[in-house]
Amino acid sequence: SGDSTLSITVVGASGDLAKKKIFPALFALYYEDFLPKNFIVYGHARTKLTDEELRDTVSRTLTCRIDKRVIRATNCRENCENKMEEFLKRCFYHSGQYNSEEDFEELDKKLKEKEAGKLAHRLFYLSIPPNLFVDVVKCASLKASSESGWTRVIVEKPFGRDSESSGELTRSLKQYLAEDQIFRIDHYLGKELVENLSVLRFSNLVFEPLWSRNYIRNVQLIFSEDFGTEGRGGYFDNYGIIRDIMQNHLLQILALFAMETPVSLDAEDVRNEKVKVLRSMRPLQLEDVVVGQYKGHSKGSKLYPAYTDDPTVPNGSLTPTFAAAALFIDNARWDGVPFLMKAGKALHTRRAEIRVQFRHVPGNLYKRNFGTDLDKATNELVLRVQPDEAVYLKINNKVPGLGMRLDRSDLNLLYRARYTREIPDAYERLLLDAVEGERRLFIRSDELDAAWSLFTPLLKELEDKKIGPELYPYGSRGPVGAHYLAAKYNVRWGDLGSED
Ligand code: NAP
Repeated sequence: SGDSTLSITVVGASGDLAKKKIFPALFALYYEDFLPKNFIVYGHARTKLTDEELRDTVSRTLTCRIDKRVIRATNCRENCENKMEEFLKRCFYHSGQYNSEEDFEELDKKLKEKEAGKLAHRLFYLSIPPNLFVDVVKCASLKASSESGWTRVIVEKPFGRDSESSGELTRSLKQYLAEDQIFRIDHYLGKELVENLSVLRFSNLVFEPLWSRNYIRNVQLIFSEDFGTEGRGGYFDNYGIIRDIMQNHLLQILALFAMETPVSLDAEDVRNEKVKVLRSMRPLQLEDVVVGQYKGHSKGSKLYPAYTDDPTVPNGSLTPTFAAAALFIDNARWDGVPFLMKAGKALHTRRAEIRVQFRHVPGNLYKRNFGTDLDKATNELVLRVQPDEAVYLKINNKVPGLGMRLDRSDLNLLYRARYTREIPDAYERLLLDAVEGERRLFIRSDELDAAWSLFTPLLKELEDKKIGPELYPYGSRGPVGAHYLAAKYNVRWGDLGSED
């Protein structure tokens, strides 16, 4: 409202994430009129910068999202530039240490000046290495909390590296903050297609009745990147792909996919269901996991480096850059259905997708009319999360003509063909939700505990037994072990089929 004000402090404003994601997302929200009328953004970091220098750096990363239908309108660009100017005028910078109460006291003074006695809400975004979280939360909560409105803190993974360290982090944060002040981001939950998963399931008659072991053979959650750590392996090496992608992003998608129908869309109702399904899962077993690491090779004149060639990675590192795993949910709906996860760096392609493979049609009348084997003729529903968002369903169709030949076709909803609007970045949705106090897409601490319980025993075993990863060439489809793992459960990875 006109009488309240919002102060957003980006802690670690000099860093990469702040520049690449947070400031652009804040501007996009402002551009689309989603931010309250009165707001300011403060950058806080140790680097010495003036307000002008911050604005200058920030201005280089801002872009306007212009609806393709109105892109030709003449005043569009001018309007965008004006908006940028206006936005930058509301950005300020405060240089300070992360563990100094005095520095946060000073920040508090500056914020108060701008808030000018209005009802003030404060949001802190911790865009800093995780070892600084507790210091900052302590200083901010003691010295820079709002006296009149709410104070919320957004933190981003890693939330520890196992059950113990994660629990320790949660306990430390809760010394200074209540659970409802902590917004743990998993930016996959802010992705359009991940949000659409529930819409697809619960607002269409044709999916939910099939959503069980009765009709679904297996579910695949796949993440691949076509580049390696490229000099930024220092952070990664301490975590590895299982902690970096599987325990959080892929498991979150799995929970949303497999949960029972929530009582309502309220955050607590949805998160209760997610926790329930996570707690019905078996902890991962070593024999159901394959780990890999990319090795260097040359192709023509191009050299592709090995993971261990990265100068920031310790020699002889066993950290997996690839992993595949089979997970199981021991409840009535999913008993026996393999949920296969696969995540890797330096693979042949970049994508994130959910694949649902359905069972065979019992007594299929047309089984003699398939050119390929019947196994390839089962239905498959694919949600492509990125890039090029799409939902498609593979069906069998008659090839037109007098004969009776069937082939596989797609019922295809390609977002860029269907919708003219650009898809908002995940950070926009999540920042907006944090401002509005909508917690549905943030991770509650019991959810985080449940997620770590599934992965911690496996991670410990991998490390204690010093299990060496299977090497795969940079740019390949990953280690063959992943195929054997799928084959053990009678599954083929859908993303490696010839049709794709
Ligand atoms: P970053 O650039 O390494 O760090 C952000 C800022 O923190 C730096 O500009 C630096 O500011 C300060 N800082 C860095 N190392 C420090 C140290 N050892 N001691 C004290 N201060 C230090 O990190 P980022 O890439 O922006 O990411 C921020 C957070 O988001 C991290 O926790 C990361 O794990 C997480 N994250 C990042 C991404 C991404 O795309 N980059 C994606 C997902 C999650 P000053 O020197 O000016 O104080």
